[in-house]
Amino acid sequence: MRQANVEKNGFLLRAIVCEKCGNKIVHPSDIEEYNRFLEIKGKTFKVKMRLVGNSYAVSIPKEIVGFIKEQEKIMNDMVSMCFNEAKKISLLFGEEEQELEE
Ligand SMILES: [Zn+2]
Repeated sequence: MRQANVEKNGFLLRAIVCEKCGNKIVHPSDIEEYNRFLEIKGKTFKVKMRLVGNSYAVSIPKEIVGFIKEQEKIMNDMVSMCFNEAKKISLLFGEEEQELEE
């Protein structure tokens, strides 16, 4: 058995992997956390834009930030923001290479 991280929907789960059959056993508390993540994943939060100087600010709900902090272990003040679509902005926390497309 060796330790490994299993990635699901960009979420890292601690697991042990059997080297003979490749069977994975995910840490029970990580499964629990992943299930809580699934509950808010894709949920739409209505947040207000506030005018701050010449820019606008929005608040990121605490329950989302909690998960990001947990996954990134540390979260600094900088995030990457991208205006991907005419009506959509995305934020990227942490390192670029951790973003995996499904
Ligand atoms: Zn096995």
